[in-house]
Amino acid sequence: MKNRECSIVRDILPLYVENVISDDTKQFVDEHLSHCAECKNELDLSQTDISVKKNFAGNNSDVKVIKKIGSDIKKKRVFTGVISAVIAAIVVILSFAYLTAPEYLPYVKSFDIISVKDNNGFITLSFAGEYEIYQREQGVYDISIYNTTWNKIFNIDKKQDITVNPNGETVNTIYYVSNDGQEDKVIYGKNPINNGGVVTLPRLFLNYYFVIAILFALVLTMLIVIFREKEKIKDIIVKVLFIPISYIISHIMIKGWNATSYSATRDFYLILLLVMPIYSLFYILYKKKHSKFRY
Ligand SMILES: [Zn+2]
Repeated sequence: MKNRECSIVRDILPLYVENVISDDTKQFVDEHLSHCAECKNELDLSQTDISVKKNFAGNNSDVKVIKKIGSDIKKKRVFTGVISAVIAAIVVILSFAYLTAPEYLPYVKSFDIISVKDNNGFITLSFAGEYEIYQREQGVYDISIYNTTWNKIFNIDKKQDITVNPNGETVNTIYYVSNDGQEDKVIYGKNPINNGGVVTLPRLFLNYYFVIAILFALVLTMLIVIFREKEKIKDIIVKVLFIPISYIISHIMIKGWNATSYSATRDFYLILLLVMPIYSLFYILYKKKHSKFRY
């Protein structure tokens, strides 16, 4: 739409078509239509629309037709608004997911990415980047350092010093986990495992959830076929079916086809977050398809 005048004219059009406006308003609209092809086009469309509605409505009065058009226009606006909001949510979540996806830094001996200090039993690690730390077992810690696209774009050089045992717990071993299939490196203490290394493997549970979602979707699809004659039951099953389908789409959007993940918990939460707007989108489009009014 070109300007405010257009939007005013569009609001008046249904009344204009029904010829229930004052002469002055009519003159204003005519004047605008004479130089605005877009609004003229909108008028042509609504005229066809009305002739169809009139035929359909039979001997309904003009007032009823106008009311109907008014409420259709309102519904159309609400629909457009909701769809835009839902798509915006999907874009925001996906952008966040990609920008903050961890790119783990591999441990290279010659390249000192992490330094360890022991201050009377308090172990401090210094490095640049984001980190994950967790306790593998009593006294044994794993640390990973990673970068994100976000930090790269904004040139954020996160220099940090963290204390592994702020309460003075015993620290026997700290592993550096590079999350790339390489052996975990002991950066503090000694390797508790004799003559052998440890490799941290990617976690697989997202794979299982993905397969479960597919099975769930298949079962529901079969139920829809079975209940195809019973509208009400079918309607409920379709709405439930959107859950696993949304999950599958969300998973693919966040993880692609590769479901193994070194950051599976993070990925899982992001998938769940994305399921909500995707489900809403399905739900709204389904409702739209099954409602009487036109958009
Ligand atoms: Zn216009």
